[in-house]
Amino acid sequence: MADDLFNITIIGAGVVGLAITEELSAKYSNVLLVEKNTTYGQETSSRHSEVIHAGIYYPAGFLKAHCCREGNRLLYEICRKRDIPHKMLGKLIVATNDEENNELYKIKERAEQNGVDNLSFLSQNQVRALEPEVRATAALLSPSTGIIDSHSLMRSFYVNAQSNGAVIAFRSEATAIHFDNDKYELEINNGEYRFRTRVLVNCAGLYSDKVAALAGIDIEKEGYRLKYCKGIYFSASPAPKLKHLIYPVPTNNYEGLGTHATLDLSGRVRFGPDTEYVDNLEYTVNDDKKEAFYQAIRRYLPEIKMKSLNPEMSGIRPKLQGPGEPYRDFVIKEERDPGYPGLINLIGIESPGLTACIPIARHVSSLVEGCL
Ligand SMILES: Cc1cc2nc3c(=O)[nH]c(=O)nc-3n(C[C@H](O)[C@H](O)[C@H](O)COP(=O)(O)OP(=O)(O)OC[C@H]3O[C@@H](n4cnc5c(N)ncnc54)[C@H](O)[C@@H]3O)c2cc1C
Repeated sequence: MADDLFNITIIGAGVVGLAITEELSAKYSNVLLVEKNTTYGQETSSRHSEVIHAGIYYPAGFLKAHCCREGNRLLYEICRKRDIPHKMLGKLIVATNDEENNELYKIKERAEQNGVDNLSFLSQNQVRALEPEVRATAALLSPSTGIIDSHSLMRSFYVNAQSNGAVIAFRSEATAIHFDNDKYELEINNGEYRFRTRVLVNCAGLYSDKVAALAGIDIEKEGYRLKYCKGIYFSASPAPKLKHLIYPVPTNNYEGLGTHATLDLSGRVRFGPDTEYVDNLEYTVNDDKKEAFYQAIRRYLPEIKMKSLNPEMSGIRPKLQGPGEPYRDFVIKEERDPGYPGLINLIGIESPGLTACIPIARHVSSLVEGCL
């Protein structure tokens, strides 16, 4: 198989790799997607809140800000066209004291710098009228935040990529990459087969730093070493009756967005994710954090009972910044400069990677144009 030559190979069938494969296979022939698991979307892309973010919090000028705002619009468009289940529920960012009230003004200002100009202030009474169980001194309403069935979204990318002619190979882990002048030779499953590719797109999520290193990139020098930041969720039974997504005012340098309440498409309430930097990719959730969750949630849902909370699931964010370090943007880069033309790395695709997947795919497509 070493003689096989693809135009483009994509590593990683999460939501981002699938969106990229659909986008590129619509324009180019000979596109291959390799995934180490038995099917698509088995890692971070199925361990998240399924929220279509509006693009409120990111620093102006960041790719995260641009891709999130654009992604919000494009995801709703694609959901309508392809019948993908979703709901534009709206989200309340709730303040519970004077300091947080002031913070709401800053959040609104930042959102406007990012082109999100549909946030409105709600008074205490207006919050109560919308959400009787929520206690807040004031809130910001983001009407364009919503939720999506992310598996239906991934399925639609997968089906379209296949009908565009892309080859999608599961149980295929990229285990070695050699750059040979103008092509990359990939070894799959420690030598089970080999092939060459003109363009290589690395969207391996939590492993994207390791894949970049396999290709020859000095990940320490480039600042690509990932830090794992785990977020766990609790469900509640009985659950509060909510109609909107409820978020506290974020703290902690935006490591996460605070222990918020999200709804899924069946109306189930879930709390989380929290943030904890961890050394290993390990998804266990136990009761240890129940008290901390309870304390965080009862600030805006005072009637919640600790005994109603049950550990549910977890996800791990592939972060570029460690604890307390300055906030980092997505890295989406063709590595011509360090001497690897045709290698496109996507590193640190944490939230809002689901919301942003279509603009990310288009951005990658514009980088591929310069390579083929
Ligand atoms: C707790 C949590 C909550 C979140 N909530 C939201 C949210 O509400 N809204 C939002 O917009 N975003 C959210 N996100 C972010 C979003 O989930 C991610 O940005 C997105 O899923 C990343 O997708 P991906 O395709 O880059 O990565 P992944 O889904 O991790 O896919 C990468 C794939 O690469 C494969 N792979 C790795 N190495 C190799 C290899 N060597 N060979 C072959 N295959 C390989 C993996 O098996 C995996 O399938 C959240 C993230 C977390 C952790």
